[in-house]
Amino acid sequence: MILIDGKKAAAELREELKHEVSSLKKKFNKVPGLTVILIGDLTPSQIYVRNKEKSANEVGLKSEVIRYPDTIEQKVVLEKIKELNKDDSVSGILVQLPLPKHIDKQKVIQTIDPSKDVDGFHPMNVGNLSSGYDSSIPCTPLGCYLLIKKTEPNLNGKKAVVVGRSNLNGKPMTQLLLKENCTVTITHSKTKDLKSECLKADIIVAAVGIPELVKGDWVKKETIVIDVGINKTEKGIVGDVDFDEVSKVAKALTPVPGGVGPMTIACLLKNTIDCFKRSQK
Ligand code: NAP
Repeated sequence: MILIDGKKAAAELREELKHEVSSLKKKFNKVPGLTVILIGDLTPSQIYVRNKEKSANEVGLKSEVIRYPDTIEQKVVLEKIKELNKDDSVSGILVQLPLPKHIDKQKVIQTIDPSKDVDGFHPMNVGNLSSGYDSSIPCTPLGCYLLIKKTEPNLNGKKAVVVGRSNLNGKPMTQLLLKENCTVTITHSKTKDLKSECLKADIIVAAVGIPELVKGDWVKKETIVIDVGINKTEKGIVGDVDFDEVSKVAKALTPVPGGVGPMTIACLLKNTIDCFKRSQK
């Protein structure tokens, strides 16, 4: 079984991006800039944002974090986003989710200029992705996609099953696999007989949020299994795939932690650089 090493793949991607930033600096005399807006003091969000800032600095991006208390008025946040939209030194804008209840997530996402939307959540980017056009792609599915391609470069005609249909993971993942000419089945909580769907798959991407849902007898021998899940349990952090069982049958599997997770931040950096490059065209 191939253990897909997301840590290593993310380190390699960051190294490539570092070189890219340095050649962009030579060519344009400036570097891509990422601005993150963090509202409130939720611990996981604080940790994510600190890691994003650290990784951005490591590859040579200009990075800035704007912090607001969770009592901030929505209009202040929207005004700040509009200001950043006009700022040429800002290539990418990310508003860390979740937001406090009084702030309308959709309104915030739609206020970000689509050309600076490094999370790929703006409806214009969602539409471009599903139409097969160039767009920002949500970071986690982009990371999954890169890990799958590293393991199996030619996905033509492969049968893929995506478990979970969230806007964050399942839906964009489906579009990426379709673009690679996979035959894709997208499943969800109302799917009947998920096991038999998974048993048909050459590729399974599980993004559900249920610990160890995908079992060993749901997976064929030649299947590549990508586990997006991050679930806190009594035995620690586990994925949506039963690692002990599935590692005995699958062709390749991502561990949790150390699989998809590290790729997510590396892909955010990639998206920031891609936004910068598009803006220079
Ligand atoms: P989400 O928005 O809660 O969506 C979960 C999806 O799973 C929904 O589409 C739901 O179906 C489906 N589902 C629920 N129960 C199911 C079942 N029994 N069988 C089949 N499908 C079922 O979750 P998400 O934001 O996509 O996140 C999924 C997991 O990924 C979570 O563990 C999260 O922590 C993790 N995650 C990891 C990263 C990373 O960087 N590695 C990033 C983001 C999220 P319905 O639509 O019918 O409700």
